[in-house]
Amino acid sequence: MPAILDKIINAFHPHSSKKPVPVFDSTKVTVIYVLGGPGAGKGTQCARLVEDFGFCHLSAGDLLRAEQQREGSEYGTLIQTCIKEGTIVPMHVTVKLLENAMKAAIDERREGEGWKDGKSRFLIDGFPRKMDQAIKFDEEVCPSSLVLFFTTTEEVMLERLLERGKTSGREDDNVESIKKRFATYKHDTMPVLEHYKAQSKVAEIDSSASVEVVHKVASDVVKKLFAGESTSAPAS
Ligand code: UDP
Ligand code: MG
Repeated sequence: MPAILDKIINAFHPHSSKKPVPVFDSTKVTVIYVLGGPGAGKGTQCARLVEDFGFCHLSAGDLLRAEQQREGSEYGTLIQTCIKEGTIVPMHVTVKLLENAMKAAIDERREGEGWKDGKSRFLIDGFPRKMDQAIKFDEEVCPSSLVLFFTTTEEVMLERLLERGKTSGREDDNVESIKKRFATYKHDTMPVLEHYKAQSKVAEIDSSASVEVVHKVASDVVKKLFAGESTSAPAS
């Protein structure tokens, strides 16, 4: 094609042929996704991993609930409906909330393990729950390193959620919403796990056991990830 034509086309579609550059540099910013059905134990295990490794823990659900409560949010009603119905909030909302929360954590200039020399580490809990989110986040925000996948039976998850529902005040910890959440998990989230399994990025951890036992397994997986990172780093 004549160069002039190329120029004209590019002027109208400046990004058409370019791959987006992620907001964060994955050689400095480590992102671990934490997935599993509702009630599988993601939040509990994330809290323990924060103690071990100094992660910044970002729960997509918590960020959405905070946005729902925020005065002046244009997404309040949309988020509330999706959460109650157990469906996925449109990805641009959730991806932006995560990106903003990551920026804020990095700007805080935390200290301690994993936060030196411009480095940072994030556990992104309950995300990506659908393929479109996974692709968008990896391509445009930060490529992920690993998926921790907590699995247990629906019976166990239901029991845990109903127990939590006694005190959580969450609008979706009731049998009706829980059933819808299970359905969304199978339909939308399982393909995400298949996608990352094909890239050998998934560590599947049976979370039927006690918090302690599950934590030990999860912690060992993360330890290995970081050990691999430091051995492949150039000597200084
Ligand atoms: N949610 C969403 N997109 C996400 C994460 C969560 O739309 O990426 C919504 C969805 O409606 C979900 C709800 O938030 O059912 C609660 O998510 P949370 O992760 O808090 O639930 P958990 O799995 O921890 O019980
Ligand atoms: Mg949670």
